[in-house]
Amino acid sequence: MQDTVSFGYEDVAPDEKTARVGGVFSSVASKYDIMNDVMSGGMHRLWKDRFVKCVKPQPGEAILDMAGGTGDIAFRMVKRGAEVTVADINQDMLDVGIERAMERGIDGLSWSCQNAEELSYPRSTYDAYTIVFGIRNVTQIDKALVEAHRVLKYGGRFYCMEFSTTDWAGFKEVYDLYSHNVMPRMGQMIAGDEESYRYLAESIRRFPKPPVFEQMIRDAGFANTRVETILGGAVNIHSGWKI
Ligand code: SAM
Repeated sequence: MQDTVSFGYEDVAPDEKTARVGGVFSSVASKYDIMNDVMSGGMHRLWKDRFVKCVKPQPGEAILDMAGGTGDIAFRMVKRGAEVTVADINQDMLDVGIERAMERGIDGLSWSCQNAEELSYPRSTYDAYTIVFGIRNVTQIDKALVEAHRVLKYGGRFYCMEFSTTDWAGFKEVYDLYSHNVMPRMGQMIAGDEESYRYLAESIRRFPKPPVFEQMIRDAGFANTRVETILGGAVNIHSGWKI
């Protein structure tokens, strides 16, 4: 295990990162969904629709939505007839998701508190594994990728959507200003929590660039890896197959 890992711009001990990430999501859980709409101007809904279109969930398929939080991805996949398990390390996020599912009359989801680094599921359980805006918060990313590979069936597919920085001239400057200044302030104004939103912005900067992350996915055993970029690489959909 590494001696230190990134928590936003800080380098901290692995256990400290896990605890502090837990604190961030427990703090933002109740406002998480509204903040996603506000922070992205509703665009996260389009990115999530596009992501699920890539996954192409089929009726009866067993899908693990890892770091599934309040259920946005799972809700979209269960509507297509898949059997979805929402797993997340944070029970506060799952509790918000369970309540949202009840309010919307969405049945058939399983909810499970799990650390992506050490899953309780047997080998070769799932047809697909999805993780959206979750992997950069995981302390030992390489371990989580190996676990993803282990729990997938042969022929199973891995899909991950994550933020990165963009190199688009003009947009890059706006994006930098927005994520470093506007996001934490909006976090303070709407959720009363500047620090958590500062972490969320900083953690994007510290996450490996798409080619490096793609190599990590390959190192975990996945084949036929691909990256689809959105907004000049500000959002990326990574995929790979267990063959
Ligand atoms: N996937 C959801 C979405 O797109 O709305 C939630 C994304 S939220 C930004 C990140 C989630 O990752 C949080 O719910 C957090 O608890 C979860 N997470 C962080 N570390 C994790 C870990 N080691 N194992 C499982 N979930 C983790």
